[in-house]
Amino acid sequence: MTTLDQPITELAEAVRSGETSAVALCEAALDHLGLHEALNATIHVQRDAALLRAEKLDEQRRSGRTLGPLAGVPIVLKDNLCTVSAPTTCGSKILLREPSDSSSGWRSPYDATVVTKLEAADAVIIAKANLDEFGMGSSNETSAFGPALNPWDQSRTPGGSSGGCAALTASGLPAALGSDTGGSIRQPAAFCGVTGVKPTHGRVSRYGLVAFASSLDQVGPFARDVRSAACLLGAIAGHDPRDSTSTDIPVDDYLDACAGTANGMRVGVPKEYFEHELDPSVAAATQAGIDALANAGAEVIPVSLPHTRHAVASYYLIAAAEASSNLARFDGVRFGRREEPDSQLDSMYSTTRGAGFGAEVKRRIMLGAYALSAGYYDEYYGRAARVRTLIRRDFERAFEQIDVLAAPVTATPAFKLGTLVNDPLAMYLSDLFTLPASLAGVCGMSVPCGMTPAREDCAALPVGLQLMAGAFQERTLFRMGAAVEDALGKPTMPRSSQ
Ligand code: GLN
Repeated sequence: MTTLDQPITELAEAVRSGETSAVALCEAALDHLGLHEALNATIHVQRDAALLRAEKLDEQRRSGRTLGPLAGVPIVLKDNLCTVSAPTTCGSKILLREPSDSSSGWRSPYDATVVTKLEAADAVIIAKANLDEFGMGSSNETSAFGPALNPWDQSRTPGGSSGGCAALTASGLPAALGSDTGGSIRQPAAFCGVTGVKPTHGRVSRYGLVAFASSLDQVGPFARDVRSAACLLGAIAGHDPRDSTSTDIPVDDYLDACAGTANGMRVGVPKEYFEHELDPSVAAATQAGIDALANAGAEVIPVSLPHTRHAVASYYLIAAAEASSNLARFDGVRFGRREEPDSQLDSMYSTTRGAGFGAEVKRRIMLGAYALSAGYYDEYYGRAARVRTLIRRDFERAFEQIDVLAAPVTATPAFKLGTLVNDPLAMYLSDLFTLPASLAGVCGMSVPCGMTPAREDCAALPVGLQLMAGAFQERTLFRMGAAVEDALGKPTMPRSSQ
């Protein structure tokens, strides 16, 4: 019998061969969403559109068409990816015509390129997932719809900003697409015990991804195993003339890369990632991941990324600056909500933005506008950009000696909801280990490498190992990620939580 927790290649093969149907998988996935409503992980479920599409795929199969690599696989999208078939809210009230009605969300006239590509591979999109507002956050708590919950322990965050995607994948759905600007795929993947990949900037089209910080944003996959993530990335990667920063180099075979071994590979361990206070169980699991690579024949080499400690300051200036510019378009004229429609234009803009944006988004817009303002530009934005160059050079230098970096994704396992949300600086600092790869524009992955021990007051929680490879070296990530997974296995959630 085919079940949703099988790897994507098996699900697609079962649909292609007629062993199961796209409709059966779609119904199972929709039931799953119904059973897991308490996770608050979806913003919109497109039941009818999904079933209709699944029926169409089954019909095409019966009339002789060979279905594609994602045949009938149900997929969830972070709700900052534009879709014609469902509203797009970005987790923000500003995109809702009716303040508390998610179905009144803005309707995109076009699909994001990744959506078109998923559909070309015969996937079935079933829902749009919860996220921090416009991707700004690390715990899903800035969402206008309230936080998604971590299925391993519902009093904890699933991470953010792609929290809904990670929570749903961990709860048993096959896959999701999220976006990662400074860690929003890798960190929630680590907190939820699934594989998450941030591709090289330029590897996947950003067309139709609502922009947060354009020089950093990338779309990438969440899946329950490394090979499934490879399969998804293969389907969405590639050049897109509609995204001027997408790169025209051929897409590698990522699934095939998973068959390679770690033997002979050089794994760099950046010492700066271990100088911070790491939760002891995170440190132990990270070490287990590195040891697994060593046992598989990799050479472990200590390296230094000396500018790591400046990543938080540099990122939070650059990302805020770009956000302040990107979010200027939400002014009550073209998208979503409009307050005081009969007042003067300036007043309509400010009332709409005042009522529509949440506190974190406003904080970033103010910070970013200040950092870009005349007289301060060079002191803040200019300096942050120069530091970014230094960080990128750290990586380039390291990759002269090694093939891949291995490090923690976060210093702690998933934290309790409510603990960091009122302390923005502490929340920003928690991104320290994911920001450098984003600023350098290289690719990164979080792959499960163990669990924290269960305690009386806390369930066992998953831990992710962060692998980082040079620009467009995703094959290396998959090769090493598969080696970690083959050695350490995947975390299994107690049945009662599934
Ligand atoms: N936590 C980071 C931020 O709030 C990263 C978010 C993201 O990658 N979208 O900016």
